[in-house]
Amino acid sequence: MRKLLTLCLLSLAILLMAAPPALAGPPVQTGEAYVVQPGDTLFAIASRFGVTAADLAAANDLGNLDLIFVGQRLVIPGSGLLIEPAIVTESDEEEDAPPPALPPKVYVVQPGDTLFTIASRFGLTLTDVVVANGIRNPDYVYVGQKLVIPPPKAWAAEVSHPAPFAAIELSPEPVLQGQTLVVRVTLSEPATLSGEFDGRPLFFTGDDNGGWTLVGIHALQEVDIYSLALRARLKDGTESATAVNVVVGPGPYATENIQVSPGRENLLDPELIQAEQERMVDLWNQFSPRPLWEGTFAPPIASSRITSPFGTRRSYNNGPVDGFHTGTDFGAGTDTPIYAPAAGRVVLAEELPVRGKAVLIDHGTGVFSGYWHQSDMAVRVGQAVQPGDLIGYVGDTGLVTGAHLHWEMRVGSFAVDPMQWIETAMP
Ligand SMILES: [Zn+2]
Repeated sequence: MRKLLTLCLLSLAILLMAAPPALAGPPVQTGEAYVVQPGDTLFAIASRFGVTAADLAAANDLGNLDLIFVGQRLVIPGSGLLIEPAIVTESDEEEDAPPPALPPKVYVVQPGDTLFTIASRFGLTLTDVVVANGIRNPDYVYVGQKLVIPPPKAWAAEVSHPAPFAAIELSPEPVLQGQTLVVRVTLSEPATLSGEFDGRPLFFTGDDNGGWTLVGIHALQEVDIYSLALRARLKDGTESATAVNVVVGPGPYATENIQVSPGRENLLDPELIQAEQERMVDLWNQFSPRPLWEGTFAPPIASSRITSPFGTRRSYNNGPVDGFHTGTDFGAGTDTPIYAPAAGRVVLAEELPVRGKAVLIDHGTGVFSGYWHQSDMAVRVGQAVQPGDLIGYVGDTGLVTGAHLHWEMRVGSFAVDPMQWIETAMP
């Protein structure tokens, strides 16, 4: 039984890395009613269906937002909302102009919809919609789900960017919540690149014919189409600007409740968590400007038993769902060795209240890997590590329910799925 469970978790993780992931999650009633599950809050249910808690409360005549009970049937209000970014309109002036590139849209699933009927309505095939949303089971759609509607093939003309932008590649496309997005820009002449995504600045690493940057997509980032702004400053000081659409698709994340062992609840003191978090943010904000790693990351531990995948929405001791699992947990016995998955420099090696005995490695360009809850650490701050170097041992220090390795990856201070880094060579 235990073996089977391990296998299931593992295959989930493998799917997460390789194939477009499925919409896993707690049992969700398709149709108009949702049955409240243990650990649910009105807010969490509302966000899962893409409606507000107030709308959900109003649709169900709930006077008290906190008062819902397991087994209660809630009507999910159909919003009918169709978010349409500014559509490029056809120009009559130039007959020979290429067809304009239509931007994708976000569609909110309505009662009675199937993926097939949605695809037909937008002049698409079922496959187009499945691929654009990373859907594994096309029968599993639910009312309120947000789907990315790509432009029909006939309209998806190549977007041309002003010089010196020769080509802009995004990978993966669409990018899912909690993944790392690679943006690669090819330039026709040397220039300094900069840009923004969702209000944050992007820092480019130059190469012979352009540059690249990595964008960490928040695991709870709203499914939507975002504009990523790009600028190129030429040697003579002139600047050229353009933008590309970034389609953020739904991640395959379930929801779970964590019971914290008696005697360790005091570790949940918000001030303690906050102080430690601020310390980490300081570390994430000071990074080596050049990449120190090369290619794919190696698994940091011989164990392939993933006890908790990245991204799972979490509540603690049946509290509200207000966070997500920021790393991948590997089950392994106390004192199992942990190895550096890639080259970098150790910037933290000490015992912290929540993370326990913790090691943080700076891999350059804002990429960090963290190893929490160790029984002992084998590296010092400032030490350079190579792939395969021993960094510490599995333990149960800090806020844990048992011995395991919590392996975390940060890109631009955002927690991203570490398994993508084992599968894919970045950039
Ligand atoms: Zn963990």
